[in-house]
Amino acid sequence: RKAVVRITTGSRALDELLGGGIETLSITEAFGEFRSGKTQLAHTLCVSTQLPIQMHGGNGKVAYIDTEGTFRPDRIVPIAERFGMDAGAVLDNIIYARAYTYEHQYNLLLGLAAKMSEEPFRLLIVDSVIALFRVDFCGRGELAERQQKLAQMLSRLIKIAEEFNVAVYVTNQVIADPGGGMFISDPKKPAGGHVLAHSATIRLMLRKGKGEQRVCKIYDAPNLPEAEAVFQITPGGITD
Ligand code: ADP
Ligand code: MG
Repeated sequence: RKAVVRITTGSRALDELLGGGIETLSITEAFGEFRSGKTQLAHTLCVSTQLPIQMHGGNGKVAYIDTEGTFRPDRIVPIAERFGMDAGAVLDNIIYARAYTYEHQYNLLLGLAAKMSEEPFRLLIVDSVIALFRVDFCGRGELAERQQKLAQMLSRLIKIAEEFNVAVYVTNQVIADPGGGMFISDPKKPAGGHVLAHSATIRLMLRKGKGEQRVCKIYDAPNLPEAEAVFQITPGGITD
């Protein structure tokens, strides 16, 4: 049985909420409104994953699948400097691919498995895991097929997490809750329905606070306390 590795988010408060950081052998899902920090957290994890284990890193490489075109190599530089790492070396250890269709996204995962069997990876990012499904299956009659393909993708992600002892970090969008009535104070919920709800090991709901502050809450985990963590987005990445 493989040992879980916990990778720091850059924020102590957020790490504490997560029990030490994001975990390998698991899928961590972050959802929240536009600019809530999902992609910035991904950028920080790209760097912190490469830290040695004793510095709360994963001592491994990173695979980044980008469906929205929002990965910025330039952002990695000040984050690497903040952690005292060589930015060029950090960038070399991030394997990046842009996906344009859900099939392309799936095929990239198949290719990555081959790469991960050769080199030590500790993190796989899919930002966003669902956007292409919502584009490629937009008709109402296509929902069942979409959910079936999404389930296939997620089971592939779980397989990668378990086979290579990798942390999987995926981002998700919020949708207006079709059942949202006058008694529901927050009518937004994560996209992907039950399929995504059952695949993600931990679901993080991000929202904007004051200025560069962001708030993270663990979503829909009845066995965990209703705690929140406040963190900041800075040039050096996520911090307290
Ligand atoms: P999401 O992916 O949830 O839509 P992002 O992770 O892209 O949101 O967060 C975008 C926000 O991150 C911006 O609105 C800004 O507040 C903050 N941000 C981005 N780059 C920097 C930076 N270099 N320094 C400080 N804050 C930044
Ligand atoms: Mg984003």
